Amino acid sequence: MSNITVCARFRPLSSKERSNHDDNVCVHSIDTENFIFKDEKEEDFKFSFDRVFYEKSEQAEVYEFLALPILGDAINGINGTIITYGQTGAGKTYSMERTVDGLFEYIKSSDESVKYMIKLSMVEIYMEKVRDLFDLSKDNIQLKESRVQGILLSGVTEISVFNSGEALQNLASGIANRAVGETQMNMASSRSHCIYIFTVQQEFTKEKRMKAGKLVLVDLAGSEKAEKTGAEGRVLDEAKTINKSLSALGNVINALTCGPPGKTNHIPYRDSKLTRILQDALGGNSRTALLCCCSPSCSNASESLSTLRFGTRAKHIKASPHGLPLHERILTKLREKLDVEEVKLLEEL
Ligand code: ADP
Ligand code: MG
Repeated sequence: MSNITVCARFRPLSSKERSNHDDNVCVHSIDTENFIFKDEKEEDFKFSFDRVFYEKSEQAEVYEFLALPILGDAINGINGTIITYGQTGAGKTYSMERTVDGLFEYIKSSDESVKYMIKLSMVEIYMEKVRDLFDLSKDNIQLKESRVQGILLSGVTEISVFNSGEALQNLASGIANRAVGETQMNMASSRSHCIYIFTVQQEFTKEKRMKAGKLVLVDLAGSEKAEKTGAEGRVLDEAKTINKSLSALGNVINALTCGPPGKTNHIPYRDSKLTRILQDALGGNSRTALLCCCSPSCSNASESLSTLRFGTRAKHIKASPHGLPLHERILTKLREKLDVEEVKLLEEL
């Protein structure tokens, strides 16, 4: 049994926060796992996570602790998911960037008798619609559940990438597409959840055997409250939808922490597109990490507190990639031994 890894990261004060002299830093480090958070009213909250990255933490440190073990597993056929959560500007995208480089570094350093094929898909969930960021004409991707492969995005574009440069280039074009779609819809990127899916296929040339794993990176929409941003009309609708999907995520997390899934413990994955796409990540054959990104500044204390509380809840999930029901374990083993065509066949049965 392994829990979801939950970490907190505080970025350095922004220049705006630094220029405000009334502004104080709310975070008081105890050690690498514990800290005290003092809010505006000087009330103390103690938090404990698997690891806390303070303002001076380097990208490499976050990468090695959080991403590297998951990358290793994803490459070896255990799906891996890294979720970033926090208010806009808290460092979610910044923290994610290193992981893509890392994936290719990892592959480059591995055994030469293994051939890798990596495919990349990129989607965005906006107002409960899944949009393909590599093909904007696919603006309502449907989700399908497969017993062998888990949740699938029906007809999503998959681009083969052979090195980190190519992957980053494709990601950049996906992000640019995100902006195009957003201007058309008059929205900002913090209003949608962005999901990057790397499918890693491994071919053992000597043994003529194949294995596939998925690495899913999730950049969640900002967790800021609608009131603070003075939202109304469409913006308010967006905020409500975001809050709905984040609370659906919270509910799934709660249900998962209330004991093993079974007849008596319904896990409400179907309540939002987000939880549906993350279904495998949270409850199935997967290893998951959550990075709670926060500003260290007291002016953002209430957002940071809500982000950190979300992280505390997630800490109690018992995700168990190896504790699957027997038929799931057999399917997982079978999948490892089959090639793509055979998996497709099995799928059709
Ligand atoms: P988000 O994706 O959460 O909205 P970003 O990752 O875009 O936020 O970060 C906002 C800004 O802060 C960016 O300019 C980014 O480079 C900077 N930033 C975030 N985290 C760090 C950090 N740990 N160290 C240095 N700069 C950071
Ligand atoms: Mg971002």
